[in-house]
Amino acid sequence: MAEFDCEETKALVHEYLHNELLPDQQKDITTHLALCDSCEEEYDLEVYLNQVIQRSCDEEPPKKLAEKVLARIKDIQSH
Ligand SMILES: [Zn+2]
Repeated sequence: MAEFDCEETKALVHEYLHNELLPDQQKDITTHLALCDSCEEEYDLEVYLNQVIQRSCDEEPPKKLAEKVLARIKDIQSH
């Protein structure tokens, strides 16, 4: 069974979050995320962006949203 490397995992993290992959792919990425801090951060960021976008649709103006997202990305990159 093929396993995903970091590049592939990060490329598919959006599809993974939205359950758009084959069951085997979902499983492989779950395994990779559990073992790989770098990809887990990428996944956390994707989850976070999703939540911010959903929550902010009726709550926050786009400018404030963009600032929040940028701050979060900087935070992740500084680790
Ligand atoms: Zn990885």
